[in-house]
Amino acid sequence: MKKLDLKFNARAIHAGSRPCPVTGAHIGPIYRTSTFVMDNVEQAIRISQGEEEGYSYGRFGNPTETELEEKMAALENGERALATASGMAAITTTLMTFLKNGDHLIAGDIIYGCTYGLIRDVLTKFGIEVTFVDTSDLKNIEKAVQPNTKVIYLETPCNPVLKLADIQGAAQIAHNSGASLIVDSTFATPYLQNPLDLGADLVVHSATKYLGGHGDIVGGIIVGSKETIAGIRDPHLQFFGGIISPGDAFLIIRGLKTLGIRMKSHCENAQKVAEFLEAHPMVEKVYYPGLPSHPQHELARRQMRGFGGMMSFDVRGGFAGGKTVMNNVRMISLATSLGCIDSLIQHSPSMSHFTMSKEEREKVSIMEGQVRLSVGIEEAENTITDLENALAEVKKVVG
Ligand SMILES: *Cc1c(COP(=O)(O)O)cnc(C)c1O
Repeated sequence: MKKLDLKFNARAIHAGSRPCPVTGAHIGPIYRTSTFVMDNVEQAIRISQGEEEGYSYGRFGNPTETELEEKMAALENGERALATASGMAAITTTLMTFLKNGDHLIAGDIIYGCTYGLIRDVLTKFGIEVTFVDTSDLKNIEKAVQPNTKVIYLETPCNPVLKLADIQGAAQIAHNSGASLIVDSTFATPYLQNPLDLGADLVVHSATKYLGGHGDIVGGIIVGSKETIAGIRDPHLQFFGGIISPGDAFLIIRGLKTLGIRMKSHCENAQKVAEFLEAHPMVEKVYYPGLPSHPQHELARRQMRGFGGMMSFDVRGGFAGGKTVMNNVRMISLATSLGCIDSLIQHSPSMSHFTMSKEEREKVSIMEGQVRLSVGIEEAENTITDLENALAEVKKVVG
């Protein structure tokens, strides 16, 4: 018999899924329950002591959550996954598991705004030392390493300016210094890169974005080895309580089944939109890894299987120019978030990166008028026409 070596879409559809054991329903039910009935006290004792696998209470696990976790582990080539209430729950639970008072954390200087705020304002409150570095150059990471460095945390591509970090190189630095590498791979999704294959110890995702894909849930995922995930789940996630609801887990499961075909479409459309923007006289700069002008285009080709659906761009006229584009699109929605089937546009300084001061932002090229665009799966032609019309208004405003 030939080996059935499941490819990406086949894994996305089949991994973790099982028909209902009671009714045979093809699609597993949403186990909407707070608690689980025990056969007897002896069983309760066995489950509590880990001698028997089983569910006991909603905060400790639920079969719908398990299905999602098995699917994500399969897609990220990890042993185990953990689903959480939000991307931030995935990040906080992970960092609080790995770090303690007196430890040192190296973090990317351009990361999602709330992650930046968490690290700068909250982790430091617990006596964790932090150094923010430009992770697009491995030398910066290497220079920042201290004897007490325990975690290197980065996003690649990063939100919002799409800089990349060399995952393999960063993993080497981490492991040479006894630290762990945690990668937020929200922008790439497992369709475009698998950080664990490149040496990362853990990958985290905001499932709110491409994994769910339809803009109707908030959720997060952590993937890693069996041992690491067990250490995050028990007791940290149990105690912090940032678990996913079964209904939201179900919607992410459904979203994941089409992740491959959605990502293919996001990538194709984004490439066309980025090329259009780069050639437009009202656009000063486009940040998209699929453009040869992107400083890390070669790394993107090597590390990723496509360039994704996210980009940022600076418009002529600074804030006035950027604002005019965002206020004049008609099909595209002015809304934060990303990775949705429909195109979303946002003003990064006031939306995803409001936690950073103007000085902090400008140091890392998040300019005042900068526009971030999440290219949806609408025909690229429509997205381009919408932007073209909005950019024509910029010409009237800034000349
Ligand atoms: C949105 C986002 C997060 C936070 O996820 P939530 O689901 O909103 O909590 C973390 N990292 C990146 C890169 C994001 O874009």
